[in-house]
Amino acid sequence: MHLPTLVILTLAINVLIGFYLSILYVRKPKDKCFKFWACSCASFVFGSGLASLRPYNISEFISFFIADSLLVLAAVFILLGLIQFSHFRYTKHKQRQAFTALVIVFMAILATYQHPELVSLIASVVIAITFALCAFLLHKSAINEPIITNTLKIIFILHSVIMLAQAALILTEWGSTEPSDLPGGSIYTFLSHIVLTTLTALLLPWLCFLKLERKLTLKSQRDGLTKLANREYFFSQVKRYWKRHSRLPTGLMMIDIDLFKVVNDNFGHAVGDRAIQKVASIISRQLRSHDIIGRIGGEEYAALLVDIEKETAFKTAQRLCDQVAKELYFIGKDKVALTISIGIVHLQPAEHDYATAYKAADDALYVSKKSGRNTVTLGKVI
Ligand code: GH3
Ligand code: MG
Ligand code: MG
Repeated sequence: MHLPTLVILTLAINVLIGFYLSILYVRKPKDKCFKFWACSCASFVFGSGLASLRPYNISEFISFFIADSLLVLAAVFILLGLIQFSHFRYTKHKQRQAFTALVIVFMAILATYQHPELVSLIASVVIAITFALCAFLLHKSAINEPIITNTLKIIFILHSVIMLAQAALILTEWGSTEPSDLPGGSIYTFLSHIVLTTLTALLLPWLCFLKLERKLTLKSQRDGLTKLANREYFFSQVKRYWKRHSRLPTGLMMIDIDLFKVVNDNFGHAVGDRAIQKVASIISRQLRSHDIIGRIGGEEYAALLVDIEKETAFKTAQRLCDQVAKELYFIGKDKVALTISIGIVHLQPAEHDYATAYKAADDALYVSKKSGRNTVTLGKVI
C-alpha cells in the first residue's frame, strides 16, 4: 500500500477512536481513563502529523520538538489512563517524581530538537520505557480479563521493543542520515508504531466494557448484604449441577435463622442485618469452596453439598448449627443467643429432580422448627 495513504488512513482511524473515547468520557465522566485515552489519540494524531512534515521545509521546533513531545505525551496518556482504570494509588511523593521525570524529558527534547538524531533517540527510549511501564502496570493490576489483558500486555511489550529497536537503529546509523530523513529501515518501526498504537486505542475501550459487564453480572448474581449467590443465581447453579453431575452423591440443605423476628424486635434491624451477614460468613467458612451457597430469602439460606456422603453431610449440618450457636451468642454487646435450624436431604440428582429435592429439604426444615429449633433433620426424597 502507498505509504502516505496508509499513514493518513491510520491517523484517520485514530481520530475516530479519539472521538469515540471522548463521547464515552462525556457519557461517563467518572471514568477518567476515557479522557486520558482520548487525549492520547489526539496527541498521537497531531504528533505523527507534524513529524510527517519533516521532509518539507518546516521549522524544526514544530516538526521535532512539538512532534516528539506529542508522541511522548501520547504514550504517557495511555499510562495515565491505565492508572485511573486499575485504580492504582500513588503517594504524592511518587506523583511528584513522575512529574519531575516528565519535565526533564521535555527539557531534554527542547535542548536537543536541532539535532534530529538525538531528539529521536530520546523520544524513542522514553516511549519504550512508558510502554514497558504500561505492560508492568497491567501485569500488576487486579483486572481479571485474561484475553484482553494478555493481548494488551503483548502489544505494550512489542511496542516497547520496537521503540528500542528504533533507538538502536538511530545509534547504528549515527551521522550518516540527512537531518530530515529517518534512518534506513526505521520506516518499518514507524509503521509498527502506528499499527500498535491504533490496536491499543481499539482494545482499551473493550477492556473497559468487559470490566463493566463483569461487574454488572456479578452484581446481578450476588445478594448485596451477604455477597452470597442470590436466589435466582443459586437455583440456576443447582440446575446446572443437576445436569452435569447427575451421578454424584449430593446433599441439599435449607437453613433458617430461628425466631429472627424477635432479634429484629428486641435489638433493631441493624443488629438483624449483622446477624444475617454473620450467619452467611459462618456458612461460607464451614462449607468447602466448591459447595454452592445462596441466600434465598430474608433469613433463609440454601447450600448444595457437592459429592458428599450422607453421614458427612449430616455432620456438616450439625457442625454449622453448633458453630452459629457458639459464635452468635453475642453480637457486639447484645446477648442475642442466635441459633439456626436445618433441613437436609441426601440423593443422587439422576434419581430425582431438583424441585422435589428442594421441597423435601424444606419439609425437613419445618420438622426441625417443630421439634424445638437449633437442630438438623435429615429428610427423605420421595
Ligand atoms: P422461625 O424460627 O419460625 O423461622 O421464626 P422467624 O421469626 O425467623 O420467622 P419468619 O421467617 O416469619 O421471620 C423472618 C423475619 O426476618 C421477618 C423479617 O422481618 C425479617 N427479615 C427478612 N429479611 C431481613 C433483612 O434483610 N434484614 C433484617 N434485619 N430482617 C429481615
Ligand atoms: Mg426464621
Ligand atoms: Mg424464614
